[in-house]
Amino acid sequence: MASGRLSIDLNAIAANWRSLNARTDVETAAVVKADGYGLGSARVAQALAEAGVRRFFVASAEEGAALRQSLGEGPEISVFSGHMAGDTSLIRQAQLTPMINSLDQLLRHLDALPGHGFGIQLDSGMNRLGLEPEEWAAIREIALEQRPRLIMSHLACADMPDHPMNRAQLACFTQMTQGVDVPRSLAATGGILLGREYHFELTRPGIGLYGGLPFEAAMPVVRLDIPVIQTRQLAIGESVGYAAAWTAARVSKIATIAAGYADGLIRAMGPQAQLWHGGQALPVVGRVSMDMIGVDVTDLPQTPPSLQLLGPDQGVDQLAACAGTIGYEILTSLGARYHKAIV
Ligand SMILES: *Cc1c(COP(=O)(O)O)cnc(C)c1O
Repeated sequence: MASGRLSIDLNAIAANWRSLNARTDVETAAVVKADGYGLGSARVAQALAEAGVRRFFVASAEEGAALRQSLGEGPEISVFSGHMAGDTSLIRQAQLTPMINSLDQLLRHLDALPGHGFGIQLDSGMNRLGLEPEEWAAIREIALEQRPRLIMSHLACADMPDHPMNRAQLACFTQMTQGVDVPRSLAATGGILLGREYHFELTRPGIGLYGGLPFEAAMPVVRLDIPVIQTRQLAIGESVGYAAAWTAARVSKIATIAAGYADGLIRAMGPQAQLWHGGQALPVVGRVSMDMIGVDVTDLPQTPPSLQLLGPDQGVDQLAACAGTIGYEILTSLGARYHKAIV
């Protein structure tokens, strides 16, 4: 079979949730946007619901409606993009909780779905989504009369504990929510690790559940094994792949493996990246093609049927570093062609 095998450890996801939950005294939700960070929101959310998650966050109403199908009635599903034009029937039918971002959204929501639960998103300095302090001050009383279920904001620099933005955003959020009698949430994965003051009444980790930084203690969640299609012997001076970008400096054995940038193996990772077998690192040679990558297996006594790109020897963040990106992008880029195995 010429497709890579992506193994997803749902028990590790549940264990990561439990261990983040154990770091706070408050409720721990779960972020499953972008199809559960690329791993399949239905199975991820079901495993997390079994572990005890009662509230999930997604990016859009469409994601929320799909998640409702797999979770059934019960768990709360909150939508970061709030109540957009055209979302009303999905929000009603799937019983979603839009996190309202603006006065326009608040008016749309109260007009279209009076009495339907919602949350409020405040901008404490990231300047991405949410009501700014002045806007919030102007509508706070009206909004609070409608009994929002949650008030939240998002940290821009939580993965850098010493960054002054963290304290500034904490102060801003604390000030904006002074005296409100509604559960509050500021912390995602990074915010949980910043400590108690950042936890408020609810945390909402994403990446840490999936084994990514900044949760260093996370259990690894994914393995990716890619089959070898063919191997060949190269003489000194022969080259591999497009643009003849790599040339053999010794007599070499090159394996061509069955995954490429169309499978989310970011082309820019190129020769920085390594495949693994039995604890041995095997360099990528030449350019990453759409469906194939060349690997130098000269130092292996025998070429195995597949080589490992993600696993205990190389996690998502190490691979991300090879491509100058972050674990989040590696996970959410994982392509549709892999054979997905739940372990
Ligand atoms: C993605 C996201 C999260 C989860 O963040 P992680 O860093 O993956 O834990 C939480 N809140 C908001 C608003 C988000 O966009």
